[in-house]
Amino acid sequence: MKQKITILGSGTSQGIPVIGCHCKSCNSSDRKDKRFRTSAFIEVDKVKLLIDAGPDLRMQLLANSIEDLDAVLFTHEHQDHTAGLDDLRPIVFKQKKAMPLWCSTQVQRRLIEQYSYTLTNAEYPGVPKFQYCNFNGDYFKIQGVEVLRIHAKHGQMDVSGFRIGDITYLTDLNFISNEELKKVFGSKLLILGCLRRESHHSHFNLEEAIEVGLKSNVPRILFTHLSHHFEIHGELSALLPSGFELAFDGQTIEL
Ligand SMILES: [Zn+2]
Ligand SMILES: [Zn+2]
Ligand SMILES: [Zn+2]
Repeated sequence: MKQKITILGSGTSQGIPVIGCHCKSCNSSDRKDKRFRTSAFIEVDKVKLLIDAGPDLRMQLLANSIEDLDAVLFTHEHQDHTAGLDDLRPIVFKQKKAMPLWCSTQVQRRLIEQYSYTLTNAEYPGVPKFQYCNFNGDYFKIQGVEVLRIHAKHGQMDVSGFRIGDITYLTDLNFISNEELKKVFGSKLLILGCLRRESHHSHFNLEEAIEVGLKSNVPRILFTHLSHHFEIHGELSALLPSGFELAFDGQTIEL
């Protein structure tokens, strides 16, 4: 089984640079410091899965030449993970079928509110068709690809992480139980949300993310959902313990 992940975005909700900010990260000319909102593309053999559809989705799909998708999986309902869904229209039209959206009941409710026009009976050719697929238990299959859902907390909000083969993707969290962390054990690659150095009410800071990363025992861990409050990519990368890296937009890893 061939598995490949492409980091489509590795930035927190405002992206980097932040509009109007001229800090060192926002002013950096290193392309690794230009961060779209957090999202990833996972290919397992011929199956193509998108995780989250934030406001940068159009540019992310163009930048990575993604023209086909079998499904979208949602971690949670925040705007920086859902606001770009309408930009799937060209793919929906090209594929001539509704796009399966895998999400929790809570996320589904929010998407239906946000994209209510896609459910109207009035046939308007510009409207994308979606097919809501509720997580049915913690194991499910998308076109034969097994997905294991991992439960975590993002402040008060429930978030879903996904283990797909040897890759685990977990973002926007500040708590995961030991029981749920067991689902991560044995992964070869962990993409983990890590916001900044200072503590935050709904995201892991650097210290907490390193602690969870070490507990997971995964040999390669990439931090994502990074804020401009961190040092620039090159400086912070040099300070991380062995096995830990900062994700960057456009990064691909094949397993
Ligand atoms: Zn987020
Ligand atoms: Zn800044
Ligand atoms: Zn969030």
